[in-house]
Amino acid sequence: MSRFAQARYLIEKAARVAVVGHLRPDADAVGSVTAMVSALRFLGKKADGFIGQAQPLPANLRSIPGAEEITVSAELPPVDLVIAVDCGSLDRTGGLADAVAAAPDCLVIDHHASNPGFGTVNIIDAEAESTTLILFRLFSTLGVELDATLAHSLYAGLVTDTGSFRWGTPRMHLVAAELMKTGIDTRRIAEELIDGNSVGDLQMIGSVLSGVTLMTVGSLGVAYLVADADTIYGHSASAVESLVDFVRVVDNAQLGVVFKETSRGRWAVSLRSSSMDVSRIATRLGGGGHVPAAGYTTSGRVDTIVQELVTVLEELSD
Ligand code: AMP
Ligand code: MN
Ligand code: MN
Repeated sequence: MSRFAQARYLIEKAARVAVVGHLRPDADAVGSVTAMVSALRFLGKKADGFIGQAQPLPANLRSIPGAEEITVSAELPPVDLVIAVDCGSLDRTGGLADAVAAAPDCLVIDHHASNPGFGTVNIIDAEAESTTLILFRLFSTLGVELDATLAHSLYAGLVTDTGSFRWGTPRMHLVAAELMKTGIDTRRIAEELIDGNSVGDLQMIGSVLSGVTLMTVGSLGVAYLVADADTIYGHSASAVESLVDFVRVVDNAQLGVVFKETSRGRWAVSLRSSSMDVSRIATRLGGGGHVPAAGYTTSGRVDTIVQELVTVLEELSD
């Protein structure tokens, strides 16, 4: 049986389904949750979406239809099936990890190459530009009707995980074209998800960018930004997440890094490169991700966490 057929079997025999996206979600995680929930409801299932964290979803992601209904929680109701979407590992389900592991069945749908396949059935396609692109294909085999609401959710994951269609295969455009045929307003979706900034957010971005540092580790150039808690406090998550795009491609640097202090002394670190495998670096530091884009979390003072990264870069270059 193909993996899609196995997935279909799990879905058909379930009456109650929980759909779980990764903690600190992005638009692919939220769009995958909302799309999967709405597809399951179309198929007559009782379905709800969950993210395993305490913080509410960032405002820009709440523009995705159905996102307001997602429960942020460390508990799941009794269900027959959990569907984990865009989660590269069980850890990434956050506070829900124990509940996901205890579910009668778990269907994993993801596009992280590092995914170990923690479900009963695993659809892991590392070539897929976004998890929502895999869902687009799954929905057609399940006979789910594509309407503008569903297309909006799928498009949200696709437009963001491809860097606004800057990287990916011709398929991303073909799928985008199918989604656009439903009449979705792609200009408005991009404004709500990506482009919207307040004056205060722009000032924060300017202040973080003015501290950009270029360092060399052996023969490697590293451009990094430090976004400390005082600077980013109260600013929109989308503005903070946009910082990494400024260091993705910097002259004389092969690696771009943003250190984001999410709470006092706790840091979420984003790594980007177009010439080296950053998922190796992130994995060494307890995180994960894709070859060109990965991340990890750490704690400590700025100089300590910069040095921690330098040490790993030196080890990997040996
Ligand atoms: P970000 O830098 O947060 O945009 O994340 C880039 C990629 O790395 C995404 O595909 C994430 O799923 C992955 N990633 C980020 N942080 C972590 C983490 N702490 N653990 C595992 N994967 C991560
Ligand atoms: Mn994601
Ligand atoms: Mn994704």
